Amino acid sequence: MTPLPVAAKSDRPRVDAWPPRKRWWVVGLLKLRCPLCRRGRIFRGAITMNTQCPECRFVFQREPGYFLGSLVIAYVLALAGVTAFAFMAHAVFPALDWEWAFFTGFVLYLPVLPAGFRYARAAWMYFDHWLDPPGP
Ligand SMILES: [Zn+2]
Repeated sequence: MTPLPVAAKSDRPRVDAWPPRKRWWVVGLLKLRCPLCRRGRIFRGAITMNTQCPECRFVFQREPGYFLGSLVIAYVLALAGVTAFAFMAHAVFPALDWEWAFFTGFVLYLPVLPAGFRYARAAWMYFDHWLDPPGP
């Protein structure tokens, strides 16, 4: 069995990053900021994550398979988005069958998919940090 990689000393969060900044967590989540310091960006590209916070050096992936839980959030976000777009399509075209309305909703949701991915991962990290806050 391969041992888990141990974070180097520089990978550990900076001591001055604890306790977290007093920014409201909702603002940090909406701006996709680090759940620990709420300053550093989680993503450096459309779907490319930083491995650690550029501000406090907190490692985002706390353990292997850490982001599996974000799939549930991404699923719920996609379900809500497709349903919302389906209702909009049905409102614009009342003669449209519900099957086609949901298919239209699915197609309309596709461009929003990367945003759903980003917010699902960020929401998962915030939820996990609420459940199991990292210590200093
Ligand atoms: Zn940070």
